Amino acid sequence: MTGLVPVDGDLDTGGFFEAARRGELAVRRCNGCDALLHLPRAYCKRCGSWDGRWETVAGTGTVYSWSVVEHQVHPAYPVPYTILLVQLDDEPAARFVGHLDGSPDVSIGQPVEAWFDRVDTVDGDTVVPRWRLA
Ligand SMILES: [Zn+2]
Repeated sequence: MTGLVPVDGDLDTGGFFEAARRGELAVRRCNGCDALLHLPRAYCKRCGSWDGRWETVAGTGTVYSWSVVEHQVHPAYPVPYTILLVQLDDEPAARFVGHLDGSPDVSIGQPVEAWFDRVDTVDGDTVVPRWRLA
């Protein structure tokens, strides 16, 4: 993996990375009213519940938007690279940001799929869901 390694043991997002270690993509959902809590958060602004769960989704989607970055802003991210905004097939209200090396041909609506990038760290390993063109 290129880039920085996220903190994977955070209270609000730890379940996301636990699912990734199993090779699954997960979204957060409220146990009080079933609302999607995306980006993941502990509190549901619809019903006020602090009780939520992680729910596995298919890990397939389409390109909602994209942009090629050509001006380097961090040494861990050599340019060019492509930033994707992915809309999930089975949960269209959830959009994920993805990174592709280089500047491949990408178009809006193009199918993509998640894959799971295992990164060795001082604390063990972190698995980061990433996206590739399907
Ligand atoms: Zn709720």
